[in-house]
Amino acid sequence: MNAGRFAPSPSGDLHLGNLRTALLAWLFARSSGRDLLIRIEDLDLARVRPGAVEQQLTDLAALGLDWTGPVLTQSDRRDLYARVIDELTAAGETFECFCTRKEIAQAPSAPHAPPGAYPGTCRDLTPAERAHRRRDRPPALRLRARAGSFTVHDALHGEYTGDVDDFVLRRGDGTPAYNLAVVVDDAATGVDQVVRGDDLLSSAPRQAYLAQLLGYPIPEYAHVPMVVNADGVRLSKRDGAITLTQLADKGVDAAAVLSSMAVSLRLADPGASVTAADLLERFDPAALPREPWIFTAP
Ligand code: GLU
Repeated sequence: MNAGRFAPSPSGDLHLGNLRTALLAWLFARSSGRDLLIRIEDLDLARVRPGAVEQQLTDLAALGLDWTGPVLTQSDRRDLYARVIDELTAAGETFECFCTRKEIAQAPSAPHAPPGAYPGTCRDLTPAERAHRRRDRPPALRLRARAGSFTVHDALHGEYTGDVDDFVLRRGDGTPAYNLAVVVDDAATGVDQVVRGDDLLSSAPRQAYLAQLLGYPIPEYAHVPMVVNADGVRLSKRDGAITLTQLADKGVDAAAVLSSMAVSLRLADPGASVTAADLLERFDPAALPREPWIFTAP
């Protein structure tokens, strides 16, 4: 199967930025003959809000978006992530890391390492050192990266080269890391097109590096512009009415939200009423605006 996907975290209602990304993921997938899958990224349980998944799906449907079911939930797939992590470990591609965030921030960076990269502190610990440090805290597991950077192709950004460091695959508390789960899930579910917010562009080289290491195909990417407030800052709760429920309370229904998103994507004229199906007919990835959409909440 060839598929695109939309992968929300169930930490609350989708806001206009998430909804516009979902619309774009649907348009990219459907206009290229792909299915759209929905994947709930709920591995970070502390951020999960009860009822969020149901509301998110209701909101996507209210915009006229549909998907090929069933909805996938990452917390159901822990065995799969564990198997892949074990495979990488057996192949010598991981190491245990005992560093706290503070220790990483304070460590001198390795020569030639990109700023913010893991400084390599635990990369070459001896078995005795590891045994000793395991008494302090359970280790995270990091990838033993063998490249400093990797290049991906993005439909909006062209060739994009970004840093690859020894990123975390499994946190100290046993939770599989986002970068690992995304790569495993995309490959396992036939996702060959990744459309998401451009705040994640810098993660794509790490994920693509891991995909090729695991022998998975590297998906096509399209990192789409964010929605920002009048100050150019990414939308947040403080900006007022930015979810479908909040906008409905202000008299702006889902159809009106879809229309304004269509205008922002240059797929409709202001005031025109449109359906998702209309937008699909008009969609041309090459003509998409490359700059953020400035939204002033009512
Ligand atoms: N779950 C991530 C988010 O909500 C998206 C991850 C992805 O699309 O790869 O920001």
